Amino acid sequence: MPETLSIPPWTIHLLESGRFGLDGGAMFGSVPKALWERSNPADEANRIELALRHLLIEGEGRLILVDTGMGGQWAEKQRDMFALRQPENPLQTALAAAGFGPEAVTDVILTHLHFDHAGGATIKEGDEWVPAFPQATYYTQQAQWDLANNPSPKDRASFIPDNFMPLQRHGRLEILPAGEEIAPGIQLLGGNGHTDGHQMVKISGSEKGAGSTLVFLGDTIPTTAHLRLPFIMGYDLRPLETLREKQALLAQAAEEEWWLFFDHDPQVPGVKIAPGGKDYQIIQRYDSVP
Ligand SMILES: [Zn+2]
Repeated sequence: MPETLSIPPWTIHLLESGRFGLDGGAMFGSVPKALWERSNPADEANRIELALRHLLIEGEGRLILVDTGMGGQWAEKQRDMFALRQPENPLQTALAAAGFGPEAVTDVILTHLHFDHAGGATIKEGDEWVPAFPQATYYTQQAQWDLANNPSPKDRASFIPDNFMPLQRHGRLEILPAGEEIAPGIQLLGGNGHTDGHQMVKISGSEKGAGSTLVFLGDTIPTTAHLRLPFIMGYDLRPLETLREKQALLAQAAEEEWWLFFDHDPQVPGVKIAPGGKDYQIIQRYDSVP
């Protein structure tokens, strides 16, 4: 059984659908390898290991999945290129371990439409791509939708139309402005640093106080190493915007003792932080990797 965290009225299941690797240099932008390789050792192809992590938020009659990972449809060559390790039906397997089938999911929040987040949003039935969660409403932001449909040469390789076009075709997609709540206490925090219309997910419990708020950081802060303010991915479209988003979020998270959860950290799913050390220090780890 995967780990769960309780923030009443929500029970949050931590799911992991697999592991993959991306170039360490691209993951840390302008930060020299000497500064990141100890915490994130690179393999012979300079790739660092990354998790494909999801939240599954249960409560108030809803079952809300956050991000869908890479999906199962990858050729051998691509699996090699991304050092992809996952079961055949990765997300369905992770969901089943938490005790749920695909039809139980009521909502799917896509932090953004890059293939390592939206890849499991659809599945292939015969020759056709269809929503993988047939009962669910899927959420993305307007700016992300516009970019995914008209990407620049810099980010064209990150978007695979079969991951998201079927959602709209089947009437399952809701395109939202930034800052919306999709349920009381489940808010989508918009930003444009990593990509246009990226959304972090803020979960607020009904009891106030330390630990009653959790933010899933998406690719704005993908691993614990990226808690350092200047550690910003080379993939980001607007690194200074990412910096501002990190500064604002981390200051409030430290002040109010929020849980911060990472999509790609291979060791640590979540932390609480306080000012200190270099920028911020970790004061509590959510240690169990499911
Ligand atoms: Zn991304």
